[in-house]
Amino acid sequence: MSAFIEEKVLSVHHWTERLFSFTTTRDQALRFSNGHFTMIGLMVNQKPLLRAYSIVSPNYEEHLEFLSIKVEDGPLTSRLKNIQVGDSIIVGKKPTGTLLIDYLLPGKNLYLLSTGTGLAPFLSVIRDPETYEKFEKVILVHGVREVKELAYHDYLTKELPQHEFLGEMVSSQFVYYPTVTREDYHQMGRITDLIDSNKLTNDIGFPELDSKNDRVMICGSNAMLKDLKVMLEKRHFKEGNTTIPGDFVIEKAFVDQ
Ligand code: FAD
Ligand code: NAP
Repeated sequence: MSAFIEEKVLSVHHWTERLFSFTTTRDQALRFSNGHFTMIGLMVNQKPLLRAYSIVSPNYEEHLEFLSIKVEDGPLTSRLKNIQVGDSIIVGKKPTGTLLIDYLLPGKNLYLLSTGTGLAPFLSVIRDPETYEKFEKVILVHGVREVKELAYHDYLTKELPQHEFLGEMVSSQFVYYPTVTREDYHQMGRITDLIDSNKLTNDIGFPELDSKNDRVMICGSNAMLKDLKVMLEKRHFKEGNTTIPGDFVIEKAFVDQ
């Protein structure tokens, strides 16, 4: 039996010359938890060419959605960026990952810290009703270089608060904090600096990050993960994993060459 399912592309949206997202059909046999990633890709010369991708769409949706980088000479994304409605992609049958609320100890506030395409897994976590049952407040921070890279900004600020089932929870419990580093914007700076200076928590009117009340999920570049891990450990946060829950969990948004 094949380890992959073939799915059809339903829509494609190009955010920038480096970033796009797309939706596909979903085999209802594909089970996953919100926050999981799976292998996806294309058949190239009759062989599967696959990469890890976080699933953007929540697990109760009929379709699948992904957010993708376009790497100029990237074996997969130099091809994947050209997909059109009706094309086929292949999707791995075994989603996995550490960015699950189950791997966090109970807490009051859930901070979801992302840079670049590290936003992807959190788009499903913030659409899981259980997230709002487990945490009083859910704060999504998205750090990018330029304003145009704030993918899903309008969805998060305009559509999600109006969502048929989640709208009420989102309006009272969800905080979205976009931040830009290389262009003027009303919120600027690296996530690390915003936490270190307490600017993030001051801006949203919350107390300083504290391992007693706060739980954190992090998804971004290696450098960002490394720096944030050191900062959280200094504040006595303990890392969790798929077997032992903790105060924070991390996952790479990509692997550096
Ligand atoms: P590759 O040979 O895989 O990558 C070439 C280089 O491009 C990398 O070494 C790195 O420097 C850079 N790069 C790769 N991916 C990214 C990225 N996402 N952002 C910035 N620079 C990057 N990618 C996504 O676009 N969306 C996702 O949801 C996603 N989820 C991932 C989850 C996990 C657990 C891991 C490990 C990776 C994830 N990636 C994701 C990265 C993805 O697996 C591929 O690396 C990416 O699609 C590029 O594939 P490629 O074959 O074109 O180039
Ligand atoms: P990125 O370089 O990780 O930047 C995304 C955001 O994360 C930026 O706001 C960046 O701030 C911030 N950041 C970087 N390191 C951090 C750290 N240690 N702690 C906290 N925040 C940190 O991701 P990307 O923009 O998606 O680019 C990924 C790769 O693609 C890079 O290797 C880059 O060279 C290459 N690339 C990017 C662009 C682009 O326009 N985005 C264009 C061509 C190539 P800073 O701005 O302060 O670094």
